[in-house]
Amino acid sequence: MKVIKFGGTSLGTALRMKKVAELVANENAIVVLSAISGTTNSLTEIVQLLYKNERNTAKETIVELKKHYEKFINELLSSEEYSDKAHNLINSHFNHIDSFTEDLFTIHEEKTILAQGELLSTALFKLYLEEINVGSCLLSALDFMRIDKDLEPDSFYIQHNLVRELSTCESKLYITQGYICRNFFGEIDNLKRGGSDYTAALIGEAVKASEIEIWTDIDGMHNNDPRVVDKTYSIERLSYDEAAELAYFGAKILHPASVYPAQLSGIPISLKNTLDPDKVGTIIEKEVGEREFTAVAGKDGITAIKIKSGRMLLAYGFLRKIFDIFERYKTPIDVITTSEVAVSLTIDDHTNLDAIYDELRYLGEVSIHKDLSIVCVVGNFSHDKRGSGNKIFDCLKNIPIRMVSYGGSQHNVSVVIETQYKKEAMIALNQGLFNQ
Ligand code: ADP
Ligand code: ASP
Ligand code: MG
Repeated sequence: MKVIKFGGTSLGTALRMKKVAELVANENAIVVLSAISGTTNSLTEIVQLLYKNERNTAKETIVELKKHYEKFINELLSSEEYSDKAHNLINSHFNHIDSFTEDLFTIHEEKTILAQGELLSTALFKLYLEEINVGSCLLSALDFMRIDKDLEPDSFYIQHNLVRELSTCESKLYITQGYICRNFFGEIDNLKRGGSDYTAALIGEAVKASEIEIWTDIDGMHNNDPRVVDKTYSIERLSYDEAAELAYFGAKILHPASVYPAQLSGIPISLKNTLDPDKVGTIIEKEVGEREFTAVAGKDGITAIKIKSGRMLLAYGFLRKIFDIFERYKTPIDVITTSEVAVSLTIDDHTNLDAIYDELRYLGEVSIHKDLSIVCVVGNFSHDKRGSGNKIFDCLKNIPIRMVSYGGSQHNVSVVIETQYKKEAMIALNQGLFNQ
């Protein structure tokens, strides 16, 4: 059985949703849907307004979003019977969202509001399939997708409950929501932005799928970020390691955590374009041929923290003390470099930055630099290779570089630079490494 995931842009208009139905109608597959494009952004905006107690503006935004859905269903469903069902459906979801504008607003309400996008898209898709007489079962991800107290997926629970849910269905086409899940306490939660890819990978691992297909608005992983650089091309084959590095360092086409579950079970991931389904796209699998440079990715919103201390000289245990602080605040470190008297590292989650800073100050002189980006070159840089670093740094000769990471993995060379130079750096790498 395959797992097939469609992102928001693949569902952005009624016409596109119909196209998705056509693509899956004859499949034996679990179909994972994101929210219709723009929905999670609007829901996030509503949440922010409610946290600020700006209830009237929140209500206006809810009305606007509902209007968008009314237009969508008028174009999606043709019979009166199914139009009525769809109108009732969106009324009930939007009344539910609106009910949160009246009372105290907490993280629990936030997560419930954010879940409405995927609940709506899957329910509307199911109605459309029924209207065109395609049999399917709608499974609620809230009945099987769960994260544990460390916010990690609970694989045993997911598999056990998913298998049970699948067995209750008579059709061979299953529809479910990406992104949403329950947490350790059984409350509604989510897998963070872009998390529908992760849902697809976790489902793929749970059912030992033959393939995980991620359908989006571009023909697979490109050699550089098409939002930043004009001339990019699609890469036909990628290894799991390369894909994971690219996703982690900013290639938005894949949620960073989504590669590992597939890799664990050796399931190929294929990235396909809903707007151009005949294009090959990208296959991600175990082995791909040797290739020096594969792709470039960039990630913004990076903060560098430097800890300088004479006590570090010839001392051991210093790094452990630093890592311990980041671990306690559940803040991952991306890039790290050390010298004899200083350590520089980067983070992209600033939630606990102030508290981390306060604790680090006991270890030495701490300086913090914001508005940085990581630019990462992915390829094969095994330790016996010569010259790759030279080629990369030659491209970057006009860019001020703050940090460099080489050798941490065979597949990644990263530099930390000020965000204002990111575009220039990515274009220069595109020209110098890929002749684009
Ligand atoms: P979906 O809504 O289908 O999940 P996303 O917007 O999350 O789609 O991901 C697709 C987008 O990822 C593309 O439109 C593209 O702009 C962006 N992207 C960033 N880096 C890359 C890359 N290296 N290759 C392909 N797409 C990329
Ligand atoms: N709808 C969620 C988001 O926009 C999840 C996803 O699209 O993958 O982040
Ligand atoms: Mg996405």
